[in-house]
Amino acid sequence: MKKNILITGGAGFIGSHVVRLFVNKYPEFNIINLDALTYAGNLENIKDIENASNYQFVKADILDKSALERIFRDFDVTDVIHLAAESHVDRSIVSPLDFVFTNVLGTVNLLNEAKEYWKDDILRTNSSDFEWETTRNHLFYHVSTDEVYGSLGKIGLFTEKTSYDPNSPYSASKASSDHFVRAYGETYQLPIVVSNCSNNYGPNHFPEKLIPLFINNIINKKPLPVYGDGLYTRDWLYVKDHAIAIDLVFNRGVRGNTYNIGGFNEWTNIELVKLLCKQMDEKLGRKNGESERLITYINDRAGHDRRYAIDASKINRELGWYPTVTFEQGLEETIEWYLNNNEWLTNVTNGIYQNYYEEMYNNR
Ligand code: NAD
Repeated sequence: MKKNILITGGAGFIGSHVVRLFVNKYPEFNIINLDALTYAGNLENIKDIENASNYQFVKADILDKSALERIFRDFDVTDVIHLAAESHVDRSIVSPLDFVFTNVLGTVNLLNEAKEYWKDDILRTNSSDFEWETTRNHLFYHVSTDEVYGSLGKIGLFTEKTSYDPNSPYSASKASSDHFVRAYGETYQLPIVVSNCSNNYGPNHFPEKLIPLFINNIINKKPLPVYGDGLYTRDWLYVKDHAIAIDLVFNRGVRGNTYNIGGFNEWTNIELVKLLCKQMDEKLGRKNGESERLITYINDRAGHDRRYAIDASKINRELGWYPTVTFEQGLEETIEWYLNNNEWLTNVTNGIYQNYYEEMYNNR
């Protein structure tokens, strides 16, 4: 069956890597990239594939019900990989409603459209002689975060069975959208799958998030604002490895299941920043220790989760997925990319980014 795969949020950080992978790997499928191009969306992220014959971009907001109706009909959408979201925890603390609108209402809008547009097939799918796993005519795949599980103590890992316990407006909105996706699977038999991934890093990451923010600040010799005592722990995964995992879950994930995705790669923020400073000093030909002197401890983020760590053994075991690069390699490739894409960095850090930066980091 010919697939017309709608990828939402494909002009953003992770979405752009997923779109590129699918466009290049599946010339027989149509890839439709739906993105509202908010501050985080940037068509420069996917410039290399914009003329591919199996690729189309549509500027639309997932809150716009009639636009979704039109897009499903015009492209005869068979599958959805949903990544569009407001994604930055700090912004969610300032403007929680934006996160409710896009992440919760936007996701429910998409679910409604998929349920409506696929309704005849879903009825057939549920008849007794239908073998869904071999036919696999539709899938609604929700890409989510490990932050829905809340915070861990010094030991333990998040498994797919860990109860949801979100602490920030961002994670609460993603938890809510995960619940709606699962509920549509149970209530309306919509074929769904969810994955919850740890912190991503890599090329095209908007410099409000820790790693690209610090790369940009090191380049410009600006302070490196580290929250609280710097001992917050995150599990980091290279974005291209996340895209590979998404491809596997899309093709082989079992309907109704959740897959945790992570690299068993925990770093405290301060250890990570020191490694980044060391690698950047080498790349920039600066004296060892020069960038570390830029580290500045600032007041903590409200509701800051102490530790996240993913147990990825289910996806390892069932789908054979493992990260392909070490953290040191991935970080090096990321630094290279930012140093070689100075124009991209300059463009995204101009204008309104400056106002945002002042508000976030001055006087803390
Ligand atoms: P991002 O902020 O870089 O990109 C989000 C994209 O969604 C942007 O292109 C933006 O224009 C688009 N968008 C926002 N609101 C929209 C709307 N109303 N309608 C249509 N498009 C809209 O985010 P990201 O870091 O690439 O994250 C993508 C997804 O992966 C999110 O759902 C996020 O929760 C999830 N996730 C992110 C991470 C991470 O470390 N970045 C980890 C796990 C899961």
